[in-house]
Amino acid sequence: MRVGIGYDVHAFGPGDHVVLGGETIQHTQGVLAHSDGDVLLHALCDALLGAMGLGDIGQHFPDSDPRWKGADSRQFLRHCAQLMQKHGWRVVNADLTLIAEFPRIGAHRATMQSHIAHDLGCGSDRINVKATTSERLGAIGRGEGLAAQAIVLLAHASGSHGH
Ligand code: MG
Repeated sequence: MRVGIGYDVHAFGPGDHVVLGGETIQHTQGVLAHSDGDVLLHALCDALLGAMGLGDIGQHFPDSDPRWKGADSRQFLRHCAQLMQKHGWRVVNADLTLIAEFPRIGAHRATMQSHIAHDLGCGSDRINVKATTSERLGAIGRGEGLAAQAIVLLAHASGSHGH
C-alpha cells in the first residue's frame, strides 16, 4: 500500500463558472488557470502521482505547454489512471476536501464522486468529496480564490507492500 497527498489553489478571476471535480458550476466568477483550474482534480492527481512516486502534476502537464491551455482536468486524471494501470496500482480510497467560501458544492458532490470513480476505474464508494469554508479568514476566507486537499491510498496488484 502507498499513500499520497495533494494540494492545489487557484485565484478567482473573470468568468461565469468554475469547474470542480469535473463538474461545471455556474458562479459569478471564474478561476485564473492555464487549464480549466479544477482544484479538486489537480489536488487528486498530485496525490495519485505522489503515492506512485512519480513526481507531480506540473512535471506531467507543464503549464508552459500550449496543449494544456484550457484543458479538461479529467484528461490529467485519466492520465494518472493509465499510469496506475501500467504500474499495477488500484485505488483503495481517495478523500478530497474543497476549501472555499463559495460556490457551495453540496448538490454536485455525488456527480463529482461518480466522475472521479469513472476516470479511476473504481467504485464511487471509494471516493469521498467534501467541503469546508475558511471561516472568512485569510485569502480563501476573503473569497479571493479556492483550494483543495486530497489524500489517496493505493494498493498494488501484486499484494506486496511498497511496489
Ligand atoms: Mg492547479
